[in-house]
Amino acid sequence: MTPKTFKIKSFGCQMNVYDGERMAELLSEQGMSAAADGTDADLVVLNTCHIREKAAEKAYSDVGRLRREDGSKPLIALAGCVAQAEGAEAMRRSPMIDLVVGPQAYHRLPDMVAQVGRGARPVDIDMPAISKFDAMPSRRRAGPSAFLTIQEGCDKFCTYCVVPYTRGAEISRPQGDIVTEAHALVDAGAREITLLGQNVNAWDDGETNFADLIRTLAKIDGLERIRYTTSHPVNMSDALIAAHGEIDKLMPYLHLPVQSGSNRVLKAMNRSHTVESYLRTIEKMRATRSDIALSGDFIVGFPGESDAEFEDTLNIVDAVGYASAYSFKYSARPGTPAATMEDQIAREIMDERLQRLQERITAHSMAFNRSKVGVDTQILIERKGRYAGQMIGKSPWLQSVHLDTDAQAGDIIDVTLVAAGPNSMTGAARELVAA
Ligand code: SAM
Ligand code: SF4
Repeated sequence: MTPKTFKIKSFGCQMNVYDGERMAELLSEQGMSAAADGTDADLVVLNTCHIREKAAEKAYSDVGRLRREDGSKPLIALAGCVAQAEGAEAMRRSPMIDLVVGPQAYHRLPDMVAQVGRGARPVDIDMPAISKFDAMPSRRRAGPSAFLTIQEGCDKFCTYCVVPYTRGAEISRPQGDIVTEAHALVDAGAREITLLGQNVNAWDDGETNFADLIRTLAKIDGLERIRYTTSHPVNMSDALIAAHGEIDKLMPYLHLPVQSGSNRVLKAMNRSHTVESYLRTIEKMRATRSDIALSGDFIVGFPGESDAEFEDTLNIVDAVGYASAYSFKYSARPGTPAATMEDQIAREIMDERLQRLQERITAHSMAFNRSKVGVDTQILIERKGRYAGQMIGKSPWLQSVHLDTDAQAGDIIDVTLVAAGPNSMTGAARELVAA
């Protein structure tokens, strides 16, 4: 039976969210429609993440939970990085899976669904030389804030990370394609675009640098805000830092993962930056854009991490004063060099370190948010809030702002930030700036 409705569940990073949107567009082109929330879909795509152990386990248990009460099940596609890493093994691990498609091959999803209809169980984890982007329909739907993948893969091989294996070598999409997709997103309603890449600031199409790409995108009428994520410290060029002082549409927010505050650990991680070089980059960025909100990623419990080295991580959190940050327990990924290193850290120690780190990060987030109370700024309204008349938008510093207003999703309005929480702000609307 050909599926008529589909549901795509994306796990993990924003690049998966983007891929999920593109798969939805592909399936819609084939005449399928997105299943209404809470209803059964004929086809379920689990767009998985492999970065940490639990995410993969969660995907497998989600597959199991798709069995319906009457014993039947939807057509199940395993997509994303677990699909790439496991390939045909995923089929053996879960007989419920009908097809396996990797992140570089999902433009073939409709064809694979048709093959399932003919009794096959196809697996496609190719990393073809021809970009999947060329095989995709143009963007027709977008919310106020949209993602646009401009760079994929990674050649950096941090010793803990699966990305170079699951997403392949670093490739940059050509500027022309990116500009075309950005125009389509703006025509479809986007006011803000977040440029995505595993190392987005390493983007280089051989002709233009990343700062100039942003400059070109900033000329698009109707595009009001530009963001980019995730950046690698070694690719934080002076030109990109300078762009933050020159391009009004480039928002004052930078996600710059450091992972550890210890140079010995950074070396063992193969991070190719030091604590000092990282802090110098932050200093330059603040000299250019004093109000920049900084965010980061941290791993606690990397093999061999001592108490003193963990303290160094707390110290760098204090030194930078992050507005927000993500922190993870080290997870040994099969096939990565760190997985076979000696001195793997006990789970209880990791738990304790993670808790201490998160408390420290929360204190800094709270301090950052408090520093914005009383500030007049603009927010981009993204969606309705929980209460009648309440809307939720984003400040330039990527804070969620809750407020009462008649403004609608996609409007940019003047607000005063009036109260701070650890994860969000309350705003008071002043006036509509751009509808
Ligand atoms: N390319 C970016 C960089 O190098 O900063 C990060 C991309 S990675 C997909 C997102 C985050 O997942 C990393 O910054 C790291 O903190 C975390 N991560 C990656 N591998 C991990 C592992 N094996 N265990 C725990 N966290 C991990
Ligand atoms: Fe993974 Fe390191 Fe590449 Fe980031 S730079 S995606 S952490 S290998």
